[in-house]
Parts: sequence; C-alpha cells; structure tokens
Amino acid sequence: MKKVGFLMLLIGGLAFAVESMSKEIYYAEIFDSQGNIHKVSDIIVRDPYNKTRGREGHSLYTKRGDSNQSIPFNKIKEINLVGELKDNYVPVIIRFTSGEEEKFLIYLRVSDKYYGKTTWGDSFSIEIEKAKKVIFKHDGRFKKCPLCNTLFYNTEMTECPFDGESLIYEGKLLKPARH
Ligand SMILES: [Zn+2]
Repeated sequence: MKKVGFLMLLIGGLAFAVESMSKEIYYAEIFDSQGNIHKVSDIIVRDPYNKTRGREGHSLYTKRGDSNQSIPFNKIKEINLVGELKDNYVPVIIRFTSGEEEKFLIYLRVSDKYYGKTTWGDSFSIEIEKAKKVIFKHDGRFKKCPLCNTLFYNTEMTECPFDGESLIYEGKLLKPARH
C-alpha cells in the first residue's frame, strides 16, 4: 500500500511539474519590409522582462504615455508598424482580439526579435522593427492538450504535435484587453 501511495505522489508531482512548464503555441503571418509573407508558428519575443514573468516571451513590452505594460499575445490580433526604431522604441498600432485599436511604443533592446518556426520546421527570426505587420491567427480562444497542457491558439489544430494527443477545445473567450 505504501508503495502505491508513493507512486501516486510521484505521478501527482510529475503532473504538477508539467503544468508549471506549460507552453503557449501561437501562429502568425509576418510581413517583412521587402513584402514577403512568412507563416510562423510557435512565435515568441525574446525579451528580458518576459522571462522573469515566466511567459517565455509570449507578450510585448510596451509604453503608452507614462505607463508601461506587458501585452500578452492572446489579446493581440494584429501589430502594425507605423514608424521607425528610435531610442529603443518602435511605434505600432495594435489591434486587439476585442476589436479595439490603439497606438503603443514597443520597448526593445537592440537585439530583440520575433522567433518562431516556418511551416517546414526551419527556425525563423526577424527584428521587431523590420516586421511591418504581424497577424495572429487566433481570436483569443484556445485548445489545450490534456497530456502536456500546452495551449494552442490556432484552434484549427486537432492534435498535439509533441505527443499526438487529441486537443480539447476550451472555448474560452478571454477578457478584452484592459488598457
Ligand atoms: Zn501535448
């Protein structure tokens, strides 16, 4: 009996560890300054602020007026570049999944980029100030893998690419962005 209890504890601990490492998978089309369109999955922004918040870069660090805020990808539908990089800030208009639109400055270190994978699995990256437009293929809802707990914001996906498990449709429309 003791052995079974220990095993249950072990499985519970393992499930917790997987949960706390859960990923978010996004899919987007990125338009570069040459007019090329890149279809990119598993898109992240590499940025020091996001890492400390445990989001693995699934958000933009922005400034509007005097306030700074981190805007998660799940609230963003489209990012449109509206000017040049200046003093580590890039001006953009963000259209939210709620339909609202607003102008922000994205804060960058010099090397910050969007990273992801192309449809044929190669790694892709582009400087944020060179991505003229980013269109996320989601509306804020997601599917979840019951095995590895990964969240998939492309709800057209049916099975988990990591373990082949069928995805569960959560159907939750996340709250509109507060800004
Ligand atoms: Zn999975």
